[in-house]
Amino acid sequence: MNAVYKEIIDFIRHIYNMPEGFIPLHAPVFAGNEKKYLNDCIDSTFVSSVGKYVDLFEEKMAAYTGATKAVVCVNGTNAIHLALKLVGVEADSEVITQPLTFIATANAIAYTGAQPVFLDVDKETLGLSPDALLYFLENKTRLDSKTNKRLNLKTKKPISACVPMHTFGHPCRIDEIVEICKKYTIPVVEDAAESLGSYYKERHTGTFGTVGVLSFNGNKILTTGGGGMLLFMDEELAKHAKHLTTQAKVPHPWEFSHDEIGYNYRMPNINAALGLAQLEQLPAFLENKRNTALAYKGFFMDKGLEFISEPANSKSNYWLNAILLKNRDERDNFLKFTNDNGVMTRPAWTLMNRLPIFKSALCGDLSNAVSLEERLVNIPSSIRNIQV
Ligand SMILES: *Cc1c(COP(=O)(O)O)cnc(C)c1O
Repeated sequence: MNAVYKEIIDFIRHIYNMPEGFIPLHAPVFAGNEKKYLNDCIDSTFVSSVGKYVDLFEEKMAAYTGATKAVVCVNGTNAIHLALKLVGVEADSEVITQPLTFIATANAIAYTGAQPVFLDVDKETLGLSPDALLYFLENKTRLDSKTNKRLNLKTKKPISACVPMHTFGHPCRIDEIVEICKKYTIPVVEDAAESLGSYYKERHTGTFGTVGVLSFNGNKILTTGGGGMLLFMDEELAKHAKHLTTQAKVPHPWEFSHDEIGYNYRMPNINAALGLAQLEQLPAFLENKRNTALAYKGFFMDKGLEFISEPANSKSNYWLNAILLKNRDERDNFLKFTNDNGVMTRPAWTLMNRLPIFKSALCGDLSNAVSLEERLVNIPSSIRNIQV
């Protein structure tokens, strides 16, 4: 098998035009107005939580995604935490999510004092399966007529939210998930941290649920250094979000008054300046990444290896490309060979339910997630040779 692995490495080195040296999984590219806008922040002294770039970045992102309002946050993890608070998640309730996700999703649920319930993902989308969701809600919960909430039959705790995630940028079947949750009156917080620029049925991911969350961490398709964002269709909810991110301060020319427990979750102006410059390049980034994915797809088809393509009805941002090896042993051999040879590859995350911190969490049948965990490997996916 090492002969094929060698060919894969040669191909990756070829498309990244790097015959030698280390090839990362995802490196940021700064080829636009980044320095100009950052200098402007410093020259104006507006480097912190107030400034024109914060407003501009929010406006441009709302326009780009089709959200009514966008609210910046200090990072994506905090944004999910705040989103859960906004939709009413309280301690001792349960939040449905997928086990195949980055720890941030589950951690944010834990911050609220709620417990995650892990349900399976679809093989094709890698995201929460509407079938698993419907099965769970139909068979494992009941309506509590007093509170009008769905109660978990086993734990008697209310189900307070559902958090699907668009894995590696590939949209999950979000319209079906939202439809099911509506029927069972469960709010949806969409973890779209990885899917900026991805569309499901021509609508931007993160705009289907009650709240959508984006991340601008250094490894995402667009970076603000560190940062996150909440997307809303409901303007009032967005206003409340902004209030909560700014210590719940009641506007007044000089007095300090705070009307609820708030947070310091604001994104500084310098980060927003970086984000605005990055957003201007997003269409070029997306095209570039799509070309890389197409090149990979053709190559892996020839080699008889499974490449993860965008699911039906969707346009993926192809944030992180992935292939499926035959089994865990082959996956481990491939990981070792590529990383030993300077080409960074990574397995899928350890499933959340396997982590000791979530070992007592409730789980559905997780066959698809388990199979993906054993076989999936992410391969280098940075933007290639972008022209200034
Ligand atoms: C990156 C990411 C987040 C948020 O991460 P931050 O680093 O806090 O911005 C949340 N969920 C998923 C699935 C992610 O990949």
